[in-house]
Amino acid sequence: MIDFQNVITTIHQSLKDEVNRGLVASYIPELADVDATNFGIHLRLINGDTFATGDWDKKLSIQSISKVLTLAMVLPMYPANLWQRVDVEPSGNPFNHLSLLELENGIPRNPLINAGALVIADILVSLLENPKEDFLNYVRTVVNDPTINFNETVANSERLTGYNNYAAANLLKAFGNLKNDVDDVLDFYFHQCAIEMTCEQLTKAFFMFANHGACCQQNKLISESQAKRINAIMLTCGFYDEAGEFAFEVGLPGKSGVGGGIVALLPNHFTISVWSPGLNEQGNSLLGMKALEQFTSMTKLSIF
Ligand code: GLU
Repeated sequence: MIDFQNVITTIHQSLKDEVNRGLVASYIPELADVDATNFGIHLRLINGDTFATGDWDKKLSIQSISKVLTLAMVLPMYPANLWQRVDVEPSGNPFNHLSLLELENGIPRNPLINAGALVIADILVSLLENPKEDFLNYVRTVVNDPTINFNETVANSERLTGYNNYAAANLLKAFGNLKNDVDDVLDFYFHQCAIEMTCEQLTKAFFMFANHGACCQQNKLISESQAKRINAIMLTCGFYDEAGEFAFEVGLPGKSGVGGGIVALLPNHFTISVWSPGLNEQGNSLLGMKALEQFTSMTKLSIF
C-alpha cells in the first residue's frame, strides 16, 4: 500500500525552495502579479480518498485547463459532427500558433489549441441558452461546488490583450468554421479561461475522466468512450509543444494552463493537480512538471 501523503509531502519538500521555478505569465497584470512561491498539490483517489499539501486550497486562474471542460460539455450534445470541425492531431506548436498547418481548410488540429477551443466555444454558444452562465453552472455541477466563479477582471484583461485570439477567431470565421459573432465567441472563451479553482476543485473537475465518465457524485456526465477519447486528446495534445515530453517524463493524460496549474490522471486510479505559477519556455508549470515526474516515478503509477 502506497503512503500517498508521504509521497506528495516528500515531493513538495524537495521542490518548494527551488530557485529556478520559471517565469510567471506576464501578458496580463492579474497573472503577472501572482506570487511565484505558491506551490500546491492535491491528489484524489478513485475511492474518494484525498491527500494534499502546500497551497492546494488557494484559487488559481485555470486558463487552458478549461478547454478540457468545454470539450466534455459539448461532446454529449454534439457528438457526430464535432470531429468534422476540429481534428485530433497533436500540433507540436505553441497554443496560439496560427500557421496554415494549424488550421488546414479552417479545421484546427485539435480542441486543446486555441483555434480548436474557439470552435468548441462557438458550438457551445450555438447550443446553450445563456452560454457563459450555463457553462459556469456545468462546472459547478461537475465539481459539486456553487462557489466556483469567473474572475471578471481576468476576463477583461484577456479581452484587452487577446490579439492572437481575435486573429484566430477571424480566420476561423473566414473559413466558415465559426457560426456565431466573433465577439460573442471570444467573450465566452475569455470567460472560460478566467474561471478560478483550487487544486482540490481541479481534482474533482477531472474525476470523470478517471472514472469512466462519472463525476464525484457518480453522475454519468460523459460516456466511457467519450472519456477515453478526451484522455487520448489530453495525452497527445495537452501540453502545447511539450506533449511528447510530458508523456515521456510523466506518462499521464493531463492539461496545463498558463496560470501554472496542471491536472493529470490515471484512469481507474486517481486525479492529481499541481500548481506552481512559474512556467518553463513551453508555457507549462516548471515545478508542476517536475512534481508529476517525481510522483509517477515514486509510485510507479502511470499509463506506461
Ligand atoms: N487565455 C490564454 C489565451 O488564450 C490561455 C492560455 C493558456 O492557458 O494556454 O491566450
